[in-house]
Amino acid sequence: MRLAPRWRKGTKERRRGRWFGAFLLVLLLVACLAGAAWLFLIPDAPPAESPTGDDPDEAVAAAPQYVPSNDPPAAPLATLPLDETCEAVAPPGAAEANAESLNTRTWAPFGRQEVGWTIYAPRIGAELATACGPGTTRFAAALAGWQAAHRLTPTGILDDATFDAMRVRWTLARPFAAINARGECPNAPAPSGLNTARPDEVYGGKPAQLRPGALDAYRRMVEAARKDGVVSSRDPRVLTIFSSFRDPAADAARCARDNNCQGVTRTICSAHRTGLAVDLFIAAAPGYGPDSSADDNRRFMARSDVYRWLVVNAGRFGFVNYVFEPWHWEWTGEPPLPGVPISSLPHEGSQPLDQKPPTPQPSPKGLLTKKNEVR
Ligand SMILES: [Zn+2]
Repeated sequence: MRLAPRWRKGTKERRRGRWFGAFLLVLLLVACLAGAAWLFLIPDAPPAESPTGDDPDEAVAAAPQYVPSNDPPAAPLATLPLDETCEAVAPPGAAEANAESLNTRTWAPFGRQEVGWTIYAPRIGAELATACGPGTTRFAAALAGWQAAHRLTPTGILDDATFDAMRVRWTLARPFAAINARGECPNAPAPSGLNTARPDEVYGGKPAQLRPGALDAYRRMVEAARKDGVVSSRDPRVLTIFSSFRDPAADAARCARDNNCQGVTRTICSAHRTGLAVDLFIAAAPGYGPDSSADDNRRFMARSDVYRWLVVNAGRFGFVNYVFEPWHWEWTGEPPLPGVPISSLPHEGSQPLDQKPPTPQPSPKGLLTKKNEVR
């Protein structure tokens, strides 16, 4: 008798325990199912709401676009921060070393001896995203950071290895140069595939033709430069075109006539045959033409507002520079036409490809048809 209630009591407790266990199990199952449903059935994030309504395309079309849609993605160069201070923590002595070498360094970055690197300082500054001068600690700090990011010793001092690494980057940004490096030469577009610049867009009344996309991008760039005050009525020559599409047959005839092709100063495969390359009036030192590669002239250009504006802003419009020539820009918004092997082109007037090209002599009066026109 005394056992029965205890037994009954014990059985009740066990039953309650079982029910409770089953309840927990069901709860666990429900929780698992809910979790699984969350993981598999619900998307990662709710779709972003269109700012103007249901049609996302309409929203994109309605948004103001600073860079027209047929330009390549705006990226190449950073906009320089206006409020940056030019003092920073840099490797000791680096700023002083850069300030010293800026005007004294003897080197041959493009195969011919030069003194100093003021010609390239604006382009290097744009690469480092700093507007501070080469003699500042900010410049040295930015250079050290760039060197570290490119697996170079972060000395903060501009040396051959650092400039070479930058030059390779800048060259790779030029589709024409990459094609050329493979031993190919893009074909020239048919005359019907070219548009003609207006008389006010050319230098010295010389007609200029470009592929339509390149001419449109050039116009947008000039408009932006005008808004930013680097092109004005004070000097209407600034950013006018002094060379654009060049007929390869005429170029080849000139090579043969002048017997100077395939050198640094002239090539049997010029970027100007693509209809995408343009030579722009930047500035001209007294006694020099706008395409003279004399160092004094290039230095004069590098110090101009317009060149400094271009190295920072031209990338937004798809233009890249051949850094040896501040005036030579190539539009990258469309690829050059398919090409032929350079070896199949007429080589009259050129030396064999395996010979070293001659060192050009700076020519003070380098006007448009003179020997110092390069690409
Ligand atoms: Zn050129």
